This record gives sequence, C-alpha cells and structure tokens, in this order.
Amino acid sequence: MPMSQDFKSRLQPVIEEIATHYGTPFHIYDEVGIRQTGEDLKAAFSGIEGFQEYYAVKALPNKKILQLMQDMGFGFDCSSIPELILSREVGATGEQIMFTSNNTTVDEFNFAAQDGGCILNLDDISLLDKVPQLPELVCFRYNPGPRRTGNVIIGNPVEAKYGVTHDQVVEAYAKAREKGATRFGLHTMVASNELDYSYMVETSRMLLEISAVVEKELGIRFEFLNIGGGFGIPYRPEQQALNLQAMAQEITALFDQFKASHGYAPKMVMESGRYMTGPHGALVTRAINHKQTYRNYVGVDSCMSALMRPALYEAYHHIDVIGKSDQPQDQIYDVVGSLCENNDKFAVQRELPRIEEGDLLMIHDTGAHGQAMGFQYNGRLRPKELLLCEDGSVELIRRAETNEDYFATMNFVADKFSPLDKG
Ligand SMILES: *Cc1c(COP(=O)(O)O)cnc(C)c1O
Repeated sequence: MPMSQDFKSRLQPVIEEIATHYGTPFHIYDEVGIRQTGEDLKAAFSGIEGFQEYYAVKALPNKKILQLMQDMGFGFDCSSIPELILSREVGATGEQIMFTSNNTTVDEFNFAAQDGGCILNLDDISLLDKVPQLPELVCFRYNPGPRRTGNVIIGNPVEAKYGVTHDQVVEAYAKAREKGATRFGLHTMVASNELDYSYMVETSRMLLEISAVVEKELGIRFEFLNIGGGFGIPYRPEQQALNLQAMAQEITALFDQFKASHGYAPKMVMESGRYMTGPHGALVTRAINHKQTYRNYVGVDSCMSALMRPALYEAYHHIDVIGKSDQPQDQIYDVVGSLCENNDKFAVQRELPRIEEGDLLMIHDTGAHGQAMGFQYNGRLRPKELLLCEDGSVELIRRAETNEDYFATMNFVADKFSPLDKG
C-alpha cells in the first residue's frame, strides 16, 4: 500500500487550506511518520548490539529532515561535499558520518578529513594511495560480482561500477593496515528498492562470510558490517510492504550464530534512505489544464523537475484526487507536467476519477529521491518543501526556487582568457 494511511488521514482534511496558504506545488513530509519508521527500525534491530542507521542524505537532503534523524540518534551516509556540509551543520561529527563516494577526488578526501573526519568507505584499493590522511577506521565497499544478482535500479553487480571485487577484498584490507589503518568495517549495497526481505538477509550472510575470510587471512576483526540501503517501499497498491520484523529476526539470528562460533560479532549498520522517508512525503499539485487529443491529458502545475522517477525509471507513483476518493475511477488520463520532454508524465494511462481544473492531486511516496533528484532543465524550477509537524502545524522547510536562483551561476565578474595570446 503506497503512502502511510496515517499520513493520508492527517493530511487530507487540511490539504486545501495548506495549498491555499502556501500555494501549489509543494512536497510535504510527515514528521510523525518519519519518527515512527525510525523507532520501528531501532526496535526491530535492538537485538544486535550497536545497531546504527546512517540515513542516506541523498534521499532527502533537507536540514530539518536531517535534524529529525539526528534526534533519533542516526548518523549520515554522504557521498559529496555538500552532503558532508549538511550533515555537519546539523551537528554530526566524526564517526556519525560515513563517506561513501565513488570516483572520489582528492579535494573530497581532504574535505572529509576536516572537522573531526568521518568513516571513509573506500570504493577501490587504488584510493588508499590517494587519501591524503588515512583515518584509523577504514571500510571498503564490496562488490560480489557474479555471486549475486542485483535488481533493476542498481543493476547487475558485474556491470555495477561500485566496490572492490571478491578477489581483491583480502588485499584491500592488508594494504589498508600497511598504510596505518587499525580499525575496519565492511560495506556492500547490492539492491535498490528491494521488497523481498530475504535479499537483505542474504546480504548479511554474505558480509558475515567475508568477515570470516578476512579474519582467517589477516586476523582482522571488523568493527561493523554495513548492509547498505535499498530497502524497498510499496509504490503500487497491490504491493506488500517489506517484512521488517522477519528480516530483523533472521539477520539478528545470523549475527548471534557468528558470535557463538567466533567469540565476537561486528556491529551491524545500514544506510537506508527510501525506507526512512519515501512513504512519508507527497507532492501536491493542482490540475490546471485539460486536453483531449489521441489521449486524455490532465496538465498539472508541477513537472518532472520536482519528481524524476516516473521519467527516469518508468516508476509508478500512486495518485489521489483530493475529495474524489469515493467517485468511480472511470477516466483514463496521462497526468503531465509542462516540460518539453514527452516523458514528463507523472502517470501514463492511469485510471482516475474525473478531474476538473483546480482539483488537487496528491502524488504519493515522494519523500525520497523526489525533490532531491530534481533539476532545472527547460527553466523549470523546483518547488517548496513543507513539513507537517507533530503538533499539526505546517512549516516551510525549503522555499521554492526563484528565477534569481536560476540565473545565479551566470552572475559573476567576467573572466576572459586568450590561450593563444602569448604577449
Ligand atoms: C543511494 C544509496 C543509499 C540509499 O539507498 P535507498 O534505496 O534510498 O535506501 C545508501 N547507500 C548508498 C551507498 C547509496 O548510494
């Protein structure tokens, strides 16, 4: 079932007033739902000592949202300098931040080392020679290659650009130790939006097996295993939610078994983005145009600059037409934005109730990889973000982009250079 029913029941009675006050379009996020999911995650994994979620900042890089994560005791998974800055601005320091970049620059390593540093999650052995200051705690991203099959969004591990191979993993830690590292972690991420919990159980089993190999070969005991993000959410009404309880029970049992046979167990960490915030956000937009040509189109006052997933992955996002939930879904519409791209469609050939101009549409599950993935192509700017707070009030947590923002990168003191002019 897309979007939490609780969020829907909190939002629907006040959505018209919010839309009138702030103007459409906007993403709105649900504080209560985000906190509930965070508490559920902690409770589910409470049997594993030191369990830690590092929220994947790229999913919803808004300071106010990161503050909620910080409140719940979560760390942050970052992969760029702006994401590091954001995490540090909400107060995260040192090992509360994991820096999981790919194709990393020396500038990024230098930045990561500032302000108390962070956990470095390295994507390749060659980077050991490029990190200016190797921290004491080093982690590698492991790519199992043909040992695992990936899924649609993340691709087949053999074709994925991430991580060190199975054959490189022992060498990677040997070399890190040679370079001065004394504490170690192991990371992988082999799925994205995966709803089958047993996939994550297999990932945990795989990492425990690798840690046994590395311990046997090098005598290294990992401090933590990071099973990555990729926990799925049900975007379609007929999909079942990920079975968090069963997943946590089976993973906890694997860690217990490891402890029984090895006399210790690493901590278990994860870096969920979508699972934490995806269902707790919605894009609210108004129908502004109708058009009947080869198909029936409803034009809304938002476009793919606010939500790319349908265009990029042909992803399904459920849509409610506010106030019409009891009307027959007897129309077939393409719900479109205004961009000069034919894939700028929030829904294709979707059964919906009859939509009038002025109707509010609530597009579900935009709390992760929604606004964050937006862009400015065609001069279409990104909308504002609101937070439906625990006390029922609504807070503007990011303003809409303005034309000034769009032109900002062209406002500078001109610098003209003539490479051929040797005078
Ligand atoms: C994108 C990403 C995540 C978060 O993925 P979700 O599907 O949002 O859980 C976590 N870790 C890494 C390294 C990522 O690239």
